[in-house]
Amino acid sequence: MTAHSAIAIDPTPAPVNLLGLDRAGMVALFASLGEPRYRAEQVMKWIYHRHETDFAAMTDLGKALRAKLEAACVVTPPKILFDKPSADGTHKWLLGMDGGNAIETVFIPDKGRGTLCVSSQVGCAMACTFCSTGTQGFNRNLTVAEIVGQVWIAAKHLGNIPHRQRKLTNVVMMGMGEPLMNFDNVVPAMSVMRDDLGFGLANKRVTLSTSGLVPMIDKLGEVADVSLAISLHAPTDALRSSLVPLNKKYPIEQLLASCLRYAQRKPRTSITFEYTLMKGINDQPEHARGLAKLMRGFNAKLQRENAAKVNLIPFNPFPGTGYTRPPEEDIRQFQTLLMHSQVLTTVRRTRGDDIDAACGQLKGRVLDRGGRQARFNRTLAAHTAGNTLAGAGQPSEHQPGDVDAAA
Ligand code: SF4
Repeated sequence: MTAHSAIAIDPTPAPVNLLGLDRAGMVALFASLGEPRYRAEQVMKWIYHRHETDFAAMTDLGKALRAKLEAACVVTPPKILFDKPSADGTHKWLLGMDGGNAIETVFIPDKGRGTLCVSSQVGCAMACTFCSTGTQGFNRNLTVAEIVGQVWIAAKHLGNIPHRQRKLTNVVMMGMGEPLMNFDNVVPAMSVMRDDLGFGLANKRVTLSTSGLVPMIDKLGEVADVSLAISLHAPTDALRSSLVPLNKKYPIEQLLASCLRYAQRKPRTSITFEYTLMKGINDQPEHARGLAKLMRGFNAKLQRENAAKVNLIPFNPFPGTGYTRPPEEDIRQFQTLLMHSQVLTTVRRTRGDDIDAACGQLKGRVLDRGGRQARFNRTLAAHTAGNTLAGAGQPSEHQPGDVDAAA
């Protein structure tokens, strides 16, 4: 470098992706452009109610504003790499992120409602032993625009118009990733989902699913009114720690106490306990009895019958896993034991089997360039050879193919 060489500075800042702003962010941006609040709201309607990305087509904005927006902003959803409908109406998108990464979004229509399962991270660091995504490791957090963009793509595909042509009725943050590990981006994204000028969903129809990050559950309770789903999967700490490693840090008692605080603070939201049933691992009558005891205790402390709802998820196998799904009669028996103990219990129907709808599966097949799946298979084989399957396999709680969202 000579004494006269200068560091090149790009004078043009990168355009702002409007999918990354909630209403407060939009209003602030428009104020910085010298535009009133109602203009920001007008543009939100174009984006979320009419699925328009081209400012030139936003005909009720003045020419000068359109030019300003074109110069400073974009509306850019993630790139669709793969778009796969299932015979049962389930629809899955593999969406390209930067650096060759990809995430998954799944739409599941069912009896008058349509649920979209949304990812919050590329991969996941929580390493739940039964989760397909867990086998892929953590890459990065998704931005607000990338989270909102998933809903936008599905809404456009479905022709969803909030309050008029409602095809998308529920969103569950239950795809790839632990949403509470990406708190700062997930919270504004959920705000767009619940905003009348966004996707217009009721609070309780947006559900955040967590593997149990206790301090963040408390933090969520301070800022959002969404429904909560807890990946429980076991009635004892020993078993849960082998399935959800985070349990070693936040054991069941602490987790349930944080759920209690959330439910007390947000009495109109619902709390669902997800329980993936794996044959010979956590599907025995003693597990059902232990789970019933936990749930009854939770209801009693809250003094609300049916405050806790259990969602049984028959395990959805994926390539390389050592876990299997219990037979139908065992699933029914497990449910019956819970119901007889006055625990509200549903069983999720598996959906989208023909499109690998369990979390991480499609991505695993399309993008397994690094051979992670093969490495995982080898690790699993080593564990199962020693008959120590509990804690060694990697299926998934966040199984979008089976999602049962808040009612
Ligand atoms: S179940 Fe959820 S939290 Fe656990 S590894 Fe999979 S995506 Fe992450």
